[in-house]
Amino acid sequence: MKNSLQVEELVLLCDRKGRKYLVKLTSGKQFHTHAGSVAHDSLIGASEGIQVRTNRNASLTVWRPTLNDYVLKMPRGAQVIYPKDSAAILMLADVFTGARVLESGVGSGALSLSLLRAGAYVLGYEIRADFAAQSLENVAGFLDQEAQQRYEVQVRDCYLGIAVDCLDRVILDLPEPWQVVPHAAKALNAGGILTAYTPSILQATQFREACDCKLWAQACTVEILHRNWHIEDEAVRPEHRMVGHTGFVTTVRRLG
Ligand code: SAH
Repeated sequence: MKNSLQVEELVLLCDRKGRKYLVKLTSGKQFHTHAGSVAHDSLIGASEGIQVRTNRNASLTVWRPTLNDYVLKMPRGAQVIYPKDSAAILMLADVFTGARVLESGVGSGALSLSLLRAGAYVLGYEIRADFAAQSLENVAGFLDQEAQQRYEVQVRDCYLGIAVDCLDRVILDLPEPWQVVPHAAKALNAGGILTAYTPSILQATQFREACDCKLWAQACTVEILHRNWHIEDEAVRPEHRMVGHTGFVTTVRRLG
């Protein structure tokens, strides 16, 4: 059995209505919601998955947060890549354990978290120092020392060049990914994959046009549609609300 919940550990408290709260367990503290309060001390040492009651008799379930929970709750400066898209990027960009990945921009570090948890070495180029610091903090808030040691973020403009080579993967989430194509051509190994995440299809098209067919092949652009279903007794139907649009994922491979 995995060990019990520890002091300073992050937990997710879920109420009956599906609301979720991310809380760091601190001795002597109380967690308050409109439905009452719970002492952190009543959770420290407990097993995850238990249900506790607030002082106003509302039920809360306590879990260790999943990466999906964490990414949606962590502090963010820039817009994050949503879990449905991060999951697809891991497969489309074929991110493997030990892969050498350059990621730019890094923003809040949401995609970095997925890349690191998949076992990659991630070098981030982020133009804003405040976002670079935020991404390091967010990664340290969820992943262990071993993963943090595979992560480095430099405050740099990726449009000006990539200062390393022999990369397996380059993954871009910035406004003009086509500006990075010539740099990625030099920095990637033959067979390496360049990925661009773009909110607009016009950006995806411009990125594809920048990939000269003498250097790049296997171009592919994908949009991920994700629809939750409501299942309760006889009411079985798609949810009324869905995330209508996030972005497009385009991949190309470096020819030898
Ligand atoms: N993928 C990130 C979000 C990135 S948002 C996540 O999942 O959390 C886009 C980021 O690109 C912003 O942080 C912005 O500061 C950065 N950026 C924009 N232009 C850049 C450039 N030329 N070089 C490096 N970073 C850049």
